[in-house]
Amino acid sequence: MNESKDFLRTKVEEDLKAGRYKQVVTRFPPEPNGYPHIGHAKSICINFGIANDYHGVCNLRMDDTNPTTEDTQYVEALKDAVEWLGFEWEGKVRYTSDYFERLYEYAMQLIKMGKAYVDSLSEEEIREYRGSVTVSGKRSQYAARSIEENVELFERMRKGEFRDGEHVLRGKIDMSAANMQLRDPLFYRIRHASHHRTGDTWCIYPMYDFAHCLSDYIEGVSHSICTLEFENNRAIYDWILDTLGLTRQRPYQYEFARLNINYTVMSKRKLLELVNKGLVSGWDDPRMPTLAGYRRRGYTPQSIVHFCDTIGIAKANSTVDVAQLEFAIRDELNLKVPRVMCVLEPLKITIENYEGSELLEASYYPQDVPKEGVRMLPFSKEIFIEREDFDENPPKDYYRLTPTQPVRLKHAYIIECKEVIKDATGKIIELKAHYYPDSKSGEDRSGIKVKSAIQWVEAKSAKEVEVRLYDRLFKDESPKGLEDINPHSLKIIRNALIEPAVIDAKPDERFQFERLGYFYADPIDYSDKHPVFNKIVGLKESWGKKAQSIQSNKTEKKVQIDGKVAPMSQAQQALFEHYTRTLGLNSEIANTLVRDERLSHFYTQALEYLNSPISLANTVANEVARELKEKTLEELAFGAKEVAELIEMVEDESISTKIAKEVFEEMAKSGEAPQTIVQTKGWMQISNPQILQSIIDEVISKNPDNVAKYKAGNTKLFGFFVGEVLKATSGKANPKMVNELVGETLTLQ
Ligand code: ATP
Ligand code: MG
Repeated sequence: MNESKDFLRTKVEEDLKAGRYKQVVTRFPPEPNGYPHIGHAKSICINFGIANDYHGVCNLRMDDTNPTTEDTQYVEALKDAVEWLGFEWEGKVRYTSDYFERLYEYAMQLIKMGKAYVDSLSEEEIREYRGSVTVSGKRSQYAARSIEENVELFERMRKGEFRDGEHVLRGKIDMSAANMQLRDPLFYRIRHASHHRTGDTWCIYPMYDFAHCLSDYIEGVSHSICTLEFENNRAIYDWILDTLGLTRQRPYQYEFARLNINYTVMSKRKLLELVNKGLVSGWDDPRMPTLAGYRRRGYTPQSIVHFCDTIGIAKANSTVDVAQLEFAIRDELNLKVPRVMCVLEPLKITIENYEGSELLEASYYPQDVPKEGVRMLPFSKEIFIEREDFDENPPKDYYRLTPTQPVRLKHAYIIECKEVIKDATGKIIELKAHYYPDSKSGEDRSGIKVKSAIQWVEAKSAKEVEVRLYDRLFKDESPKGLEDINPHSLKIIRNALIEPAVIDAKPDERFQFERLGYFYADPIDYSDKHPVFNKIVGLKESWGKKAQSIQSNKTEKKVQIDGKVAPMSQAQQALFEHYTRTLGLNSEIANTLVRDERLSHFYTQALEYLNSPISLANTVANEVARELKEKTLEELAFGAKEVAELIEMVEDESISTKIAKEVFEEMAKSGEAPQTIVQTKGWMQISNPQILQSIIDEVISKNPDNVAKYKAGNTKLFGFFVGEVLKATSGKANPKMVNELVGETLTLQ
């Protein structure tokens, strides 16, 4: 139980002490119209938590009064979520729809008391008549109907004699109440729609305000806990129960502040939109704030419950930093999961002075973690390290491997670089190194000082795995809508390499990949043949830092625009040499790239995907640079990979350079992949000679006069024919091929 009591628990204790209830009964009452999210987790923890703390019970009730949006798949998801968080509901799952008959009788009772009436105003009139905060409302003329007339109309509503919207049932409360909710609230509406449980039995459905208090009462709920936005509805809740005389052991409503988290949206409606638009892979996409999403990503139920405990229960709305949730899982896994080695972007190293092979014993846990366990790490002449862990021209504080700085291979030996091997484009493809035989971890007698230890895997025994790196789904701290989505929230690495024990011995489902973060074997896609790991969270909070450094880049850029062209730094000069000499860029393009760290960074990344240094450099220095004038790297709708894919399409002649410019505009706007854009727009370059020939034939048969003139010696008309063919294909025809084919066809005429 919580040490310091929140206001809800204080109230519950008071009620128990005063003997107001025999037992505490709470309920979690979701509407099954979407998957539960982290906000629901808070409500679940409160309702089930209070029941547990005071030896009471908590019901799970599906608030299924809106047939058009509800579905049984959501019912299942809600049950799953509650169970996964470790809670047990009382008896069977309840449904508001189980009470439809009783609710109808209560409504009839109110009508007979003269406390409810059938109104026939249109929706718009109802709104108009309600007035405003400053203007008192006006009661509908239909409120004057006799009790008999109301009884008859309500019966006929139930029988299905009216269309949707023709009538509603309203409580007769007070059209001039300061609390607008009390201005004759709607109790029932007509909806000719099939319900996921009651089918077509009903065509009138109770509104939340009517159904909720009565369902609570029917179930013997003592404390009805909901979120603050229902504060004003409490008056209706009380009015209905009091008017019906349901006052013995009746429930009371209490409100708390709903949970909001930054960098995400939380309403089920918006989450549904993400799913329906295909912006995520489904409700359980690991980037979603749904419990199914967190679960698939690798969060434990304990970490979520712990998080809900730490944020507390307040009476004022606020936003919780998502870093707090990330902290909860990191904190838990830090002491629990084995630490293993995985390399995301492998760079080969051949250790020239090492012969044979050996197995190195390595602990899964560092000394300060109260857990034990070891595995054997194969070691031999050929290993892979992270590409990032070697830098040929390192910045000042670089602690890893460089041509002059040795580094320790974690759990193994110290190595030093002897030679850097590059391909024709200047990309590093391998390092030759030497190891120090007397530097073995745990028995190091080498006396060599290193500044860090890096992860590695042995080449022959390493297993290939897919790693899915997740970032925040929205780039904006308080996203206004789906337009604020972070286009780089998922990065898939298909050929990461991992040490064999992880796959063969499966010591756990969750791991710390040394220096990379915490990872989880994807519960759906993982197989022994194709292991897949999801990144749960990084080792440290990194988002804030990243955003900051990009921000400062933006300011640097401004200084240059102001006209101050600084001399190149040494590192920039080296890069310039590399671009012009090795990659063959012209000096103007190289200069543009070198002087803007964002551009050179982007360019380096793009080169990893496609070995076309010149085309890529042109696109980055022109198109990408133009986008970056107004945006940060984070704000770009596309990444280096997409630009590489675009250039690749030009190079394999899938699209023309002209079309490529349009595709780029689209990418920058929508963030769609170039292939998708080309496909949906139908922009594929036409290089099929048969198709082109039939178009050429048509153009020629339509222009007999020009053919005659051409044959009579007017060769300028050649261009006319080519132009017609290009026009007929909206510029998609492969121009070179059209030229050849038109030439051939005209000589045959
Ligand atoms: P959404 O607006 O996301 O669709 P909702 O309030 O309509 O949510 P319900 O299914 O009606 O969702 O909610 C079930 C319970 O969970 C209610 O008691 C509601 O108050 C609570 N709840 C919903 N969202 C949050 C939240 N963000 N924080 C705390 N409790 C929440
Ligand atoms: Mg809702």
